[in-house]
Amino acid sequence: MRIVFIGPPGAGKGTQAERLVKRLDAAHLSTGNMLRQAREQMTPVGRAAEPYLSSGRLVPDPIVLDLVAERLDRPDAAHSVLFDGFPRTLAQAESLDALLAARGLPIDMALELQVADEEVMRRLASRGRADDAPEVVSQRLRTYREETQPLLDYYRGRGVLESVDGCGPIDEVFARIWAAVDRRHSARAKL
Ligand code: AMP
Repeated sequence: MRIVFIGPPGAGKGTQAERLVKRLDAAHLSTGNMLRQAREQMTPVGRAAEPYLSSGRLVPDPIVLDLVAERLDRPDAAHSVLFDGFPRTLAQAESLDALLAARGLPIDMALELQVADEEVMRRLASRGRADDAPEVVSQRLRTYREETQPLLDYYRGRGVLESVDGCGPIDEVFARIWAAVDRRHSARAKL
């Protein structure tokens, strides 16, 4: 199963993604994690990405797409993959379609984690990551609204969107996510 996980920064996507990949035995493809790791290791990719990471803007597509293509070719990504933080733009979604088509792997589901803005600001204020500084947070939220939200229509139009309420205790949110995955799974089995 290929699942695209979409939600604003601070929606709790990372925590839920960790659980979901365990339950699904899927590869966790988080471009944010990959970029942060590259920055820590000071690789050429990390150095190129650094100004974008620290300002909350999107890292240019060629850098991100190279990382994704490489990751998709690792053996553990041959079957189930959870895309976390990618795609973030329509252009990236189209590139992902092409990458997956070349490998004969369709997207089965886009999973939206919905959290109100005020809740996002509250959660981010208590997290303390370097790019959680208030001005960077508002940039990341703006980028989410402008660039990433249009993806919801893109995937809705393809009939693969499932939206889940991301408010409440972690276990409850995960139960909703799992129910949505299950729904999608049954819908696909009927095709
Ligand atoms: P995340 O951990 O997914 O919130 O990502 C943290 C930061 O990494 C973002 O604010 C961007 O600067 C960068 N980033 C992560 N994923 C992408 C992507 N798909 N395209 C461009 N930039 C990304």
